[in-house]
Amino acid sequence: MDLELQPLNLPSDNPRPFVIAGPCSAETEEQVMTTAQQLKKLGCKMFRAGIWKPRTKPGGFEGNGEVALPWMKQVKEETGMLTATEVATPEHVELALKYGIDILWVGARTSANPFAMQALADSLKGVDVPVFVKNPVNPDLELWIGAMERINQAGVKRMAAIHRGFSSFDKKIYRNLPMWQIPIELRRRIPDLPIICDPSHIGGRRELIAPLCQQAMDLGFDGLMVESHCSPDSAWS
Ligand code: PEP
Ligand code: MN
Repeated sequence: MDLELQPLNLPSDNPRPFVIAGPCSAETEEQVMTTAQQLKKLGCKMFRAGIWKPRTKPGGFEGNGEVALPWMKQVKEETGMLTATEVATPEHVELALKYGIDILWVGARTSANPFAMQALADSLKGVDVPVFVKNPVNPDLELWIGAMERINQAGVKRMAAIHRGFSSFDKKIYRNLPMWQIPIELRRRIPDLPIICDPSHIGGRRELIAPLCQQAMDLGFDGLMVESHCSPDSAWS
């Protein structure tokens, strides 16, 4: 099945890439605003920050939740950047929309779960918001496409895929293996679907960000989502 798509109509850098940048998570109002102001100065037009963080083990910082959403609103008002955050449940969708988040994305753990994807799709019925879907943690193109089909069938037409690499036991170079053949095959199957590269979760290390961005550009990706922090060495996630 093909996806029924419309152009994203986001502020883009002609011709590409369009760039979304911001911290892994919204830690404090000050960290969010400082990072956003710095990115704005660099010409960034879209800001990301995680409000709800899926952590591998309990006890880690799981995001500030709803209290951090007004900070995103403030970013939009003070910098004019569009804001993006991860949603994993219908409650997240409802709250993100309530606070005017412009772009929603679905994380890699959620896109691997068809029940969770269907619940998200049901909560997005009749809502016109761009939804970006990260690849599932496992290298399964059909599962990735299926996750996007569920959202699309709910009526969401402005969509993009985010390539963030695939989990493996081997972490010698990458935190998540790029397996470029998978997004390349996705492009062949659904040529109209914009594909964004997330070098931060593929690389997991600062020195891999630039070469991964370059590789994504060489392969014809449309955009980049890059993690960025005003004080990276003290980031909470
Ligand atoms: C993130 O974007 O911070 C995140 C948790 O990503 P992923 O779902 O790719 O692990
Ligand atoms: Mn992250």
